[in-house]
Amino acid sequence: MPVKELYSNFIDLVFPPVCSSCGQLLVQGEKYICTKCLLEMPKTNYHLHKDNPVAEALWGRAKIENATALYFFESGSKYQNLIHNIKYKGQKETAYGMGLLFGKEIMESDFKNIDLIIPVPLHRAKRRKRGFNQSEWIAKGLSESMGKPLETGLLYRQKSNPSQTRKNRYERWENVEDIFSIRNNEALSGKHILLVDDVLTTGSTIDACANVLLKQQDVKLSVAVLAYAL
Ligand SMILES: [Zn+2]
Repeated sequence: MPVKELYSNFIDLVFPPVCSSCGQLLVQGEKYICTKCLLEMPKTNYHLHKDNPVAEALWGRAKIENATALYFFESGSKYQNLIHNIKYKGQKETAYGMGLLFGKEIMESDFKNIDLIIPVPLHRAKRRKRGFNQSEWIAKGLSESMGKPLETGLLYRQKSNPSQTRKNRYERWENVEDIFSIRNNEALSGKHILLVDDVLTTGSTIDACANVLLKQQDVKLSVAVLAYAL
């Protein structure tokens, strides 16, 4: 048995892989999420409809070509665990796996026309604290299954996000408006960018990124988020 396989069997023994959604033990052939959860996943299929609630949530602010989410995020559902496990329990492989799945689905639609993939960046300090950027791992999966390049160095967050509680939508928008910047803008000109995030709630973070990206020459923008909060 190869060492790598031995090692992974050992890891599986000590930390048996469980479904990131329901917590049941995974069986052979399953990865990150069990077959049952995968089949029952409340998918939006919004990539098949140009006008959809995710696109509408971003309307009137930035010009977005196509926008979609893989599935509905409902508080209290077992799929809420998926985001929680990714974000706070460090399950970046799950983010990657979901990205792979997401990419496969949207390649069957207008999303196949994008040129490159950019995740919503975390502030350096937050990234250091969490150890990784969950949106970047979703984007890695998308990049792999869509066969499109991933760019993580061009868009960055210059300010950390102040606490957003007890602010109305407008104030929140004001708050995030100038926190993103671009490095090496020639690399973006003429490109159709797919911007990736984990959850869409108010849309203010996506908006703030979109405003910066769309200031670059001849840039087109589409948006893919893993989950759309109802
Ligand atoms: Zn499950």
